[in-house]
Amino acid sequence: MDQEIKRCTRCILPDTLSSVTFDEKGLCNHCRNYERDFLEWDRISDRKEKEFRAILKKAVSLNRPYDCLVPLSGGKDSTYALYLCTKVYKLRTLAVTLDNGFLSGPARENIKNALESCDADHIFYSINIKNSRELFREFTLKTGDFCTACMRGINYSIEMAVKNFRIPLVIKGSGRRVQYVSQIKEVSNLNTASYFANVIRGTEAGKKFSHFSAGRRRGEFIKIAGAIPDILGISRSRTMRFMTQHIGLYDYIYKPYPEIVEIIRREMKWSDHAGSVEHLDCELHDIPFYKDTLKIPGITAGTFHRSGLIRQGLLKREDALRMEEEELKEKDPPAELFKYLKNSDITPENYARAVLESDNSQYEPKYQKIVRNLYHRFRRY
Ligand SMILES: [Zn+2]
Repeated sequence: MDQEIKRCTRCILPDTLSSVTFDEKGLCNHCRNYERDFLEWDRISDRKEKEFRAILKKAVSLNRPYDCLVPLSGGKDSTYALYLCTKVYKLRTLAVTLDNGFLSGPARENIKNALESCDADHIFYSINIKNSRELFREFTLKTGDFCTACMRGINYSIEMAVKNFRIPLVIKGSGRRVQYVSQIKEVSNLNTASYFANVIRGTEAGKKFSHFSAGRRRGEFIKIAGAIPDILGISRSRTMRFMTQHIGLYDYIYKPYPEIVEIIRREMKWSDHAGSVEHLDCELHDIPFYKDTLKIPGITAGTFHRSGLIRQGLLKREDALRMEEEELKEKDPPAELFKYLKNSDITPENYARAVLESDNSQYEPKYQKIVRNLYHRFRRY
């Protein structure tokens, strides 16, 4: 391992990330935060489950066409969310999937099997791949990253269904405990409708996808307003009648992922196909992780994920370091990157320039930066 790089003594996050700070024992801020929020999880898990049930009860009592919406990607976490909502908590559930044109075969198969295994209704919103390419191309050239565009599409499809069916509750297969990337400031995406609109303003893609960010001021206001009860400690049930609540499942119910995989294999006919349980849903999934390695020395496509697994007690640090060492020797870009660039008419040089030199903060409204910082600073479990 490169001796120049200092790493956290518990996980493997390196000091090449400027937002990572170490205490006198060499423990990084992410490990410290994790400890603060989750060390006593066993003690509060019953209370969290009760809170979760109270939220569901409120949603059911509103008697809307659906009690909840689950965004379904075909990955393990969204499939688990669908399983819990339909088969454990017996909610009237609408699942929504965005096909960005790059949805993988295994993901399609998992979605089909999951829906056959439960009684949820489902909406497939498919973007024509030609339009998707055009949108992704704009984002890639201007920001070095197309994931933000896709995430806006996912959120748009959720908003569309929520509005149409007046769905009071959105339950995502996510949660702070398992979000390895969005916690890292340097690589997390700026995922707002205003950002989306600003990147593609004045382009052909901007005309084709203007509906993705229409009504963004209202939507962003609601998002901010939705966070205020959290900060003030007002329960989500009390505001649900007026405002759709978006929650991450793992903020209330947590199980280590091997247990989740076992449950959804049995109950939802889920399969990991290629032998990897992470991110099998998008054909382009290796590209954003590779992109980060171009920007930050001493990391691999797996550094954040492995650090998260170590914190959860699911991977040994020494094993993670060995994997890192192997991968750090390997500098080749993933094969799908060349294919993507070729099909999108982007040269590797232009791609590298966009990744390394674009200033993405120019597309984010100032007040949103402030709000996000406040939110992350004050939120507790
Ligand atoms: Zn750490």
